[in-house]
Amino acid sequence: MRKVDISKAVFIHLYVTQKKSGNDIARFFGIGRTTVTHYIHEFGLTPRTGKEVLANNPHNPNTPRQREAVRAAGKLRVGELNPNWKGGKAWVDHKGYHRVRRDGRYILEHRWVMEKHLKRRLSPGEDVHHINGNKTDNRVENLAVLSRTDHMKLHWANGAKEKILREGKSNNHSDNH
Ligand SMILES: [Zn+2]
Repeated sequence: MRKVDISKAVFIHLYVTQKKSGNDIARFFGIGRTTVTHYIHEFGLTPRTGKEVLANNPHNPNTPRQREAVRAAGKLRVGELNPNWKGGKAWVDHKGYHRVRRDGRYILEHRWVMEKHLKRRLSPGEDVHHINGNKTDNRVENLAVLSRTDHMKLHWANGAKEKILREGKSNNHSDNH
């Protein structure tokens, strides 16, 4: 099982409060559905039955065990759950990137902004670089499209070598800066 750095509070928020499906949560964190099930158990949550999923009833009674898990995760007032939560439509992921919900998926906002600007899809080999180094500044004037190779070179030149080594080489395109 892939070890993933995911926030328990966010997981519980998505699964219990927002009643997201396991598949949605898997997509959100970029993990497998099996890993989601693992976290449901690890965090002391009660897996929803197929019936509950179908009913999708916001008033589904939580089991005592589930309520206890929620309490243990902290006071579940939405705004406090994750200071990065931006109201359910967009948020900052665990790497510090804004994500926005589009077509049922949470995608990287800086890539989406650039695609809108270019009026075309970016290829996986095209990275979007934050010129001023602020990963949350997704104004189009702060973004530049670079090839993966040029982007890596730039960051190595900028002394990001240690950061890349620390975080590991990623083979998806979510490690832009
Ligand atoms: Zn960059």
